[in-house]
This record gives sequence, structure tokens and C-alpha cells, in this order.
Amino acid sequence: MSHVIQPVGPSPLKARLLLIVEDEPQISRAVRNALNDGADRIIEAANGRSGIDQAAAEQPDLVVLDLGLPDLPGIEVCREIRRWAEMPIVVLSARHSEHEKVQLLNAGADDYVTKPFSTLEFAARIQAHLRRSLSHRGETSPILEATGGLTLDFARRSVSRRGIPVRLTPTEWEILQALARQSNRTLTHQQIFDRVWGKNAGNPQQYLRVHITNLRRKIEEDPARPQFVVTDPGVGYRFELPE
Ligand code: CA
Repeated sequence: MSHVIQPVGPSPLKARLLLIVEDEPQISRAVRNALNDGADRIIEAANGRSGIDQAAAEQPDLVVLDLGLPDLPGIEVCREIRRWAEMPIVVLSARHSEHEKVQLLNAGADDYVTKPFSTLEFAARIQAHLRRSLSHRGETSPILEATGGLTLDFARRSVSRRGIPVRLTPTEWEILQALARQSNRTLTHQQIFDRVWGKNAGNPQQYLRVHITNLRRKIEEDPARPQFVVTDPGVGYRFELPE
């Protein structure tokens, strides 16, 4: 008798096409196995140049990109694809430094998975990215309702908790909306800073810390244990929204 483990949450979304850019055959096989049910077609590139070409020619729904490629650094492949495409890019890396993660997110990667990875967890993360990009196509609905009675109205630029309006400063609102529009994705300090203050001099981490503290005091049940605006240590912040 066999038991099928059902993923928790909504049924899997099927992508039309996924691209794996990876030079090690056994890793790309593992990635393929993890994603087989989630896509009609999976194509592979064994180096960075061919990855960029295939991403441009085939317009996949999502790219899984290894950082250690024989011809180009993965981060450059990421930056290049991001110049003209918006599909999610999920990076695979053998390392796991915060500095590297910051650089990758700044280069336009959506997520970062450390090798070796768990197949189930990897598939779930890919599903989450596909769900977001295929169902929204980059658009956010005008109203976002999070658990715990937190509601964001993007058109009115207003926030309420359990029906009671929360008064945010313009800066707090800009930070919150930047995070919430890409919920469950970590934005680096620099990315948040650029979105809220524009390209400016200054130490984004310092600037942000105070505003994040104030924001949490206003929207979190327990500001010391935030459930919405979560810290990704050494990297940035993200707005958590259960899928
Ligand atoms: Ca490699």
C-alpha cells in the first residue's frame, strides 16, 4: 500500500516551461525530479551563456540558476536575465554567506537555496514563486488582508488592524507597501532603501532600523516577536503572508 503525501495548501500550479542552468548533471537531475510535476516542460543549460540565450529565446516561467558555472559567475547571469525579464530566478548555491545572499537579491534573484536541498522543500518554494508570478503577473490586488486582521489598502494608502485605522507616517507606509507588494520575499536593506528614499547616499540599514521598529509597534500584535515584518538577519526584511 502506498501513501501519497499531499502538499498542504492550494493545488499545485503547472508551469508551461522551466529552465535549469546547472553544469553538474546529478544536481540538475535532482532539480528536474523535484520539479517534474510542476511543469509541462523543463529545459536545461549547462553553462551561463547558454542559460542567458535560452532564457531569452524560450521565455521560461521560472529559472533555477546555479551560481558555480564554468563560464560566467551565476550572479552575472542573474543580472543579465533581470535586465529584460521578470520571471522568478531561484539561485542554487553551495555556500551560504549573508553577504552573498544580499548581492544576489540585489542582482534580482527572488530566492536562494543552499545545496544540498530537500526535494520537498525545494518543490514547495518553487511552487510558491510560480503561484505568485503566474497568478498575479506582477500585479498586487488593491487590498491585502493578512492573518490577524491586518488589512492594507494600496489605493487609499491606508492600514487597519481589526477594523481600526492605523496611522503610519509616509515613510512607514512606503516601507510597508514595498515589502507587502512582494510578500514572502526578502528585500535587502538596499532594495528597500532605493524604493523608499530613491537612490541616495547614506546607510540604509541604519535608516531602516528605526522605521521598522516604529512600524512594528503599530502593526504587530507583539512587536518583539513580529509576525508580519520579519527580519532576515544580515540581509533585509520581508512581509510574511501565508500562501
Ligand atoms: Ca555548478
